[in-house]
Amino acid sequence: MLFSELPLANPLQRAIRAVGYEQPTPIQEKSIPSLLEGRDLLGIAQTGTGKTAAFALPILQLLLDSGKFRAPKTCRALILLPTRELAIQVEDCFKQYAQFTAISTACIFGGVSDVSQKRNLIRGVDVLVATPGRLLDLINQKAVSLKALEFFVLDEADRMLDMGFIHDIRKVVALLPQNRQNLFFSATMPDDITKLASTILRPNPVRVEVAPQSTPIERIHQELYRIDKRRKGALLKELLLAHPEMKKVLVFSRTKHGADKITRVLEKAGIKCAAIHGNKSQNRRQEALGNFKCEQIRVLVATDIAARGIDVDDVSHVFNYDLPDVPETFVHRIGRTARAGKDGIAVSFCAPDEEQDLRAIEKLTRISIPEGDKAIYEKLPPQQKETPESEMRNARGRGFPRRDNNRGNRHDNRQGGQKQESNNQGKHGNEKNRPQQNRPQNKPQNEKRPAQNGGNVQNANRGNVSNQEGHRTIGKNRPGSRARKRMREAAEAARRAQGN
Ligand code: AMP
Repeated sequence: MLFSELPLANPLQRAIRAVGYEQPTPIQEKSIPSLLEGRDLLGIAQTGTGKTAAFALPILQLLLDSGKFRAPKTCRALILLPTRELAIQVEDCFKQYAQFTAISTACIFGGVSDVSQKRNLIRGVDVLVATPGRLLDLINQKAVSLKALEFFVLDEADRMLDMGFIHDIRKVVALLPQNRQNLFFSATMPDDITKLASTILRPNPVRVEVAPQSTPIERIHQELYRIDKRRKGALLKELLLAHPEMKKVLVFSRTKHGADKITRVLEKAGIKCAAIHGNKSQNRRQEALGNFKCEQIRVLVATDIAARGIDVDDVSHVFNYDLPDVPETFVHRIGRTARAGKDGIAVSFCAPDEEQDLRAIEKLTRISIPEGDKAIYEKLPPQQKETPESEMRNARGRGFPRRDNNRGNRHDNRQGGQKQESNNQGKHGNEKNRPQQNRPQNKPQNEKRPAQNGGNVQNANRGNVSNQEGHRTIGKNRPGSRARKRMREAAEAARRAQGN
């Protein structure tokens, strides 16, 4: 099928040609005709499948067809996404596809001033791309209303839930008019996502499922190094020093803490690198990614969640510094290399306690990964004996699933026992120290909840914290508050003693 065969208006066909698309991708071929008929859609697809155009093009077509006009401070189509990066990316796509039409777009997200965002909404917009926290914030400020909404898209639903946005999503859905067309996209469909979809979609939506376009695994040259955990950093360093042809290297770490540790080892050896994960500020992550794309740095260390949705061409090598415990994640990871007909190499490190993960990966891929160059082991420091303490430390990096165990895709919701990852930023950039609030009731108490978009932290130095809606909560769970209480009590006792 060609795009020209789809019933899309001339300005859209022109834009499609301008961006260089010829044939619709499978998800576009399956979705666009049903969406043009006005049906709701449940899409199971990841970034990279062409899903943005799959929903943007029919929405633009229907907006053009409807003959309605945007009213002040309203929007006609709302695309809800979990992170600022994705929101910017999706608005860019809408802008490109709508470049030969009069359709207007706007993008709102937390972590920046809302002044220009509010200004852009005064006259109303056709397409609003938003993250949930800032959207609710601007609705509360009466800068925008959803009463005239015709199309609602919830994108990356599983990631939204992982990031703790469920309450915000429910609040937004409660504000939507009854009569609307709904599109719901998620990479995975565990029970909680299916339930959420059923509260948003009308009965009998079209269901479209598309596997990610990954590189045929046979085209990737693979190597395996069996190595104890403590010497993985040294092994990575030695391999990079011995192989200057490893130019654009993506290293996957199971945890955020692990990712930082890897960069410290490489930096010490003079290897240019950066880490991206949920504890890094938005600016730092974008800077790291930009530097990696234009090869200012040689190595990008990423956690699985941070790497998701990021499109980098020409990755020469993928390192599985830690093996993922979900074998499908391994396939997604190594599929970042050998794209567009190019060669690619995937190197995996396997510690003794990861043998089981390795077996699952080899079973899924039906490939027995060959061992790498054994001579490299001679350059490494001798293996140290594990002490009970070091074993505990190592075990800590291997964590447990974050949410309910019946999730389909466990790799997406675990961060190896580390603090759960957030891809969004609050008002003051990185809110990693923000206390936990509004904890969903089904979560274990020791779990941490990520900061939410548009969150405000006020008077944090005094221990009083405002949550996203501006309610003040006393930070009694803040680190150190118990110590402060004890100091206060001691001071009071001393005062009393002096008084006596
Ligand atoms: P997405 O999954 O929407 O993030 O799209 C991934 C990439 O595929 C983006 O760079 C799109 O510009 C590109 N893309 C989307 N549809 C097509 C198409 N039909 N032909 C070629 N490239 C496409």
